[in-house]
Amino acid sequence: MTINAPLIPPESSTDMRSNSAWAGFKSSLWFQTDPTPPAYPKVPDSLDTEVAVIGAGFAGLSSALALLEQGVGVAVLEARQPGFGASGRNGGQVIPFSKHEPAALCAMYGEEIGRGIVDLTISAADRVFDLIRRHGIDCDAVQTGWLQASSKPAGYAALKQRCEVWGKAGAKATWLDGDAIRQYCGSPIFQYGWLLGGGGTVHPLKYVRGLARAVSSLGGAIHGDSPALSLKPDDGRWVITTPTGVVKARRVILTTNGYTTDLWPGLRQTVVPLYSMQVATDPLPAAIGAEILPGGQSMTDALRLIHYFRRDAQGRFIIGERGPFRDIPRESDTPRVIGVARRMYPALNGVDFPFRWSGKVAMTTDHMPHFHQLAPGLSAILGFNGRGVAMATTLGQVLAAACLEGKALSTQFPVTPMRPIAMHSLNLVGIAAMIAYYRLLDRIA
Ligand SMILES: Cc1cc2nc3c(=O)[nH]c(=O)nc-3n(C[C@H](O)[C@H](O)[C@H](O)COP(=O)(O)OP(=O)(O)OC[C@H]3O[C@@H](n4cnc5c(N)ncnc54)[C@H](O)[C@@H]3O)c2cc1C
Repeated sequence: MTINAPLIPPESSTDMRSNSAWAGFKSSLWFQTDPTPPAYPKVPDSLDTEVAVIGAGFAGLSSALALLEQGVGVAVLEARQPGFGASGRNGGQVIPFSKHEPAALCAMYGEEIGRGIVDLTISAADRVFDLIRRHGIDCDAVQTGWLQASSKPAGYAALKQRCEVWGKAGAKATWLDGDAIRQYCGSPIFQYGWLLGGGGTVHPLKYVRGLARAVSSLGGAIHGDSPALSLKPDDGRWVITTPTGVVKARRVILTTNGYTTDLWPGLRQTVVPLYSMQVATDPLPAAIGAEILPGGQSMTDALRLIHYFRRDAQGRFIIGERGPFRDIPRESDTPRVIGVARRMYPALNGVDFPFRWSGKVAMTTDHMPHFHQLAPGLSAILGFNGRGVAMATTLGQVLAAACLEGKALSTQFPVTPMRPIAMHSLNLVGIAAMIAYYRLLDRIA
């Protein structure tokens, strides 16, 4: 069993202000196809606002947007520029699905909240496409569904049951066997799978930048290159210091996910930041491209360590998997995932993958996003476990609704106490070993 990457992230990877972190962001296909970063100004000397949102990804910007739509003043502070975190680097797969099945969610949180999470999950993709339509965001959005399929005989019953239970819960789930699934995937290797309607794809960086533009157009302030360095209560308000000025707010929302710093003690230790890596081809010749996912769905396989893949608006093929702990994957990190792509789609043999990039996924021990009320007027949502395009957008709106109603807690999603993971840095070692073990099991299966 070999692990071909450092077990613990090197310091440079954890410092968002480092050149390597910015170079990692710029290396993505998404940046290269939308290359002009907006330059939102730094925080001025002093700024007063009703709500300060820290972190300009899907979660922060969708909560800012929902607050502004109800007339609440918002300032968004971002360490670099909007989309710098996972939101600007991900696979752009919009997936209205949760790892836990509906019955498990009801067992975990009780019938009412469990059912509420199921409904939020099922509606999550529609919320994304609705925002895109309402704010006229030009981000190559396609809502043709999400596929999950397997090439292994083992696992048939479990995947079929997953399709059935989500269908019964109200999702648009269709079971696909044999030739039907092979036609959807455009690959000879898949034997069975399911199609989840409502899902689809976006250009994630264009989507998150579009959200930022919508926030600005509604009068919200966005401040780039403005990392929050400290956060303290003072006489009924929160005081946030940044390198260039001080922000005072009645409420603060933290949406920093896998890029969480030590701003609030213990919060960083509630998630394990794992890297996910993607590679992409240039636009494929029509003869090859038209055969791959001909219906334009996004897709993942059903392995323990999944591969996720899709085509983009220009016909590139993009595939991702769990990656090494570095901001920019090396060429030597990519042969395995390229090999997977070529096994699924033999027409890709001989096709180059000139793009490679990665980003941090925030994992939680219960595989659920976490919504915390950290102190009066201070909330956080984080831990999207690699499924945040739809869910971070959705929970941003849920958090805004809780703020608007003046409630400390959400009635739609469980608010849980912050629980730092014991021996957090050692957990990275354990997870790296587990990844290698799962990879071995996937290979044996
Ligand atoms: C490679 C990769 C592929 C993925 N693929 C998919 C996919 O296909 N589908 C899917 O649903 N999900 C996917 N995900 C997950 C998804 O991208 C995330 O769940 C989602 O983007 C999280 O959004 P967010 O707003 O919570 O956090 P982020 O987008 O990570 O934003 C957090 C922001 O907080 C900022 N920040 C941190 N600390 C501070 C501070 N102190 N002051 C100011 N700013 C700060 C950071 O700079 C960052 O911009 C993927 C993730 C990765 C990394």
